[in-house]
Amino acid sequence: MPELPEVETLRRALLPLVKNKVCHSINFYRKDIRFPIPQASLRKGFLNQKVSEITRKGKYLLFHVPDGSMLLHLGMSGRVVLHQSVEPQEKHTHVIFKFSDNTYLHFVDPRRFGSLSWVPKSGKHPLIDSLGCDPFSPEMTAKFMKNLAKNSRSPMKSFIMNAKKITGVGNIYACESLYHAGIRPQKQAGKITLAKWDKWIECLRDVLNKSIASGGTTLKDFFDPNGSQGYFSVKLLVYGKEGQPCPKCANLICRIVQTGRSTFFCKTCQPA
Ligand SMILES: [Zn+2]
Repeated sequence: MPELPEVETLRRALLPLVKNKVCHSINFYRKDIRFPIPQASLRKGFLNQKVSEITRKGKYLLFHVPDGSMLLHLGMSGRVVLHQSVEPQEKHTHVIFKFSDNTYLHFVDPRRFGSLSWVPKSGKHPLIDSLGCDPFSPEMTAKFMKNLAKNSRSPMKSFIMNAKKITGVGNIYACESLYHAGIRPQKQAGKITLAKWDKWIECLRDVLNKSIASGGTTLKDFFDPNGSQGYFSVKLLVYGKEGQPCPKCANLICRIVQTGRSTFFCKTCQPA
């Protein structure tokens, strides 16, 4: 499943391909993906308008044009593939955008958890309005997080994976960032100190940045129809390492289950 670093890398890869370009036609091959596609609104708002910017909110990409923006989510298995025409068309291609320089962006999504929507000029849309703070937003500071977690009895791992609080922190990045910051995943979010929040934000951004950097040089996967979906490899220190020695203290990495997901941590380096 594409995580925040993959989506950010896709944003950076797509930007030079569509910035200041105009989409001349959209072919829809389905009425819906995860949700109904607002075909009329997209045609009215997005066609023949210059794309000024692509921004990201959590795992959503926003393609900005003067009257609003097109909102894209890759879901579990979505991909954007670049071609020089509508052919070759892979199975599960749901939408094809033709841009002014004769490039064709194909949106392919076998499992159809992705979505395509239209956001009006106000920037308001139910899919993004309730999203929490983005890890790269300047809004995310230790003070902000401490306030957000005030009186929260949620375990830290669940708290940071709650998309209404923070958007885009998947299981891997939650485990790794807590390990680097030395925070026990079960610790109540409301009891995390300002200094620890500060440390955690730094560690989270560092892990995400490393992953973005590892994908930044090879964007082939997004555009090569034969490319693997093997996303990026950031060196994982605890995730998936149950029973293996901790890289810092050599004690064995533990695994527990929290809200149905595996959590990996070191009892020594992440004290209770
Ligand atoms: Zn350790």
